[in-house]
Amino acid sequence: MNDQHSAAGPTAPEEAAGVRRFWTRLGLPGLIDVHTHFMPERVLRKVWDYFDAQGPLTGGREWPITYRRDEAERAAVLEEFGVRAFTSMLYPHKPGMARWLNEWAAGFARRTPGCLHTATLYCEPDVGSYVREAVDAGARVFKAHVQVGAYDPADDLLQPAWGLLAEAGIPVVIHCGSGPAPGKHTGPEPIARVLARNPGLRLIVAHLGMPEYEDFLDLAERHPQVRLDTTMAFTDFTEAFMPFPAQALPRLADLGDRVLLGSDFPNIPHLYLHQLDALERLGLGPDWLRAVCHDNAAALFGV
Ligand SMILES: [Zn+2]
Repeated sequence: MNDQHSAAGPTAPEEAAGVRRFWTRLGLPGLIDVHTHFMPERVLRKVWDYFDAQGPLTGGREWPITYRRDEAERAAVLEEFGVRAFTSMLYPHKPGMARWLNEWAAGFARRTPGCLHTATLYCEPDVGSYVREAVDAGARVFKAHVQVGAYDPADDLLQPAWGLLAEAGIPVVIHCGSGPAPGKHTGPEPIARVLARNPGLRLIVAHLGMPEYEDFLDLAERHPQVRLDTTMAFTDFTEAFMPFPAQALPRLADLGDRVLLGSDFPNIPHLYLHQLDALERLGLGPDWLRAVCHDNAAALFGV
């Protein structure tokens, strides 16, 4: 499953040393990764099965999972890398599942140092009440997945949740771009409608909105509370089929205070360090890297 890496890649201690060198060189106290996946074991197994089957979630591409280990080991890897804070992105694919996922995520955050208490939502009648419960329980970030959930993010059913999260200033990492494969409601247009109604909503557009990078840069430029996460962007894997347009790089540089490191750990087809190298090779400089890999998220989450 990860032969290409285990055969040629560094050993675990070498890899951790490489990640630590990256942030030490920048003078940072560590990394903050806003897009890491932790979820109930049997849900994660299903996600991995999905990746293995090269289904629509992966755009039909081969997607070897590099960090297919048990939960404690995965958390330990992040600690060894010096990831000071990270999320437990999880998401339902059907109604009636979010409340249970949120209960699990609250427990995971309690038992896992460094985890920013994460919650999720789905387009369903009781979304307002369980989002309120999650906020009251201390959730600091939400995850929404428009492709997997196959709902319109601008659906009226969701408005109580968006309104509440906007008012509370709680960020929502939202997979709303049409990569690696489009969904019925992916793309910038439904998100523009959500933001028209909730201009203060702190959406973090996952994966830099790939492949609609420039449309989501437009949205971020128009809405000061919109941020973007780097998850999988600029990596060799992504550049091969959804390359970031070179002409948009200056815009990414200008939005440097609203771009946040995300990795998709553990479900990545490369070593963690590759995401960091992919950001560095953009050539946007050490100040941009410091902001993206740590300082922006530190300010947003107060860590
Ligand atoms: Zn993800």
